[in-house]
Amino acid sequence: MADTVSKTLLCNIDLQQYIFETSAYPREHKQLKELREATFEQCGDLREFSIPVDEGMFLAMLLKLMNAKRTLEIGVFTGYSLLATALALPDDAQITAIDVDLQAYEIGLPFIQKAGVAEKVSFIQSDAISGLENLLQDENNIGAFDFVFVDADKTKYRIYHELILKLLRVGGVVAYDNTLWYATVVVEEESVHDFLRSRTKKEVPKYFVDSRAAIMNLNRFLASDPRIDISQVSIGDGVTLCRRLY
Ligand code: SAH
Ligand code: CA
Repeated sequence: MADTVSKTLLCNIDLQQYIFETSAYPREHKQLKELREATFEQCGDLREFSIPVDEGMFLAMLLKLMNAKRTLEIGVFTGYSLLATALALPDDAQITAIDVDLQAYEIGLPFIQKAGVAEKVSFIQSDAISGLENLLQDENNIGAFDFVFVDADKTKYRIYHELILKLLRVGGVVAYDNTLWYATVVVEEESVHDFLRSRTKKEVPKYFVDSRAAIMNLNRFLASDPRIDISQVSIGDGVTLCRRLY
């Protein structure tokens, strides 16, 4: 996988490899590995969308510790994070998964089926905000979710946050992915292009710069939000856990 961009925050790249090889790959479920490989082969530059293997294990551990049963994922892509969480949940769990892109999901679906966890998953093809608003129409969903994983449009996380807090139970957790945005939150905006070009040899698309700004605003906002406990975790390129307090 040498030609993909690494988002790792670790300054010593060998450490990332060490973690993957020593603790993560040996424990990666067979179908997760297959899904990761299918994504790598079929998704070109987009393959870097999937969470890394150690982050999948972190989310799985968290769900088990929480005894989560009802979860929601916003931004599914080929389903690596979805399958990682589905495998961690009990048989009677229910996962609602929302993404605009059905085609990407269909790449991962055969592995989710093969892993025997497809019955836990309801995939909704929808824009995230309308999907969340639809869920809020049903009062059975209010305060009903134990855990939400957010990984769709970074410029909309702030809007998702307000909707998700209504869906989460008190004590439930929402995890925002990529909250250190390829480690660029500490790079000056003028230097982001150079920073990324040096790592990827490619131009930086507009969405990338917009996402960085949105993530930086979100991080400041979450730190000031009294409704939640927060923990910024330095795995992948940052995951912020928020626990609903009231
Ligand atoms: N969580 C996945 C990766 C998600 S990549 C994993 O780790 O394996 C981001 C996904 O968000 C893409 O599949 C994209 O289609 C979806 N997305 C982006 N904007 C969206 C929007 N406005 N509504 C719904 N999905 C969106
Ligand atoms: Ca992500």
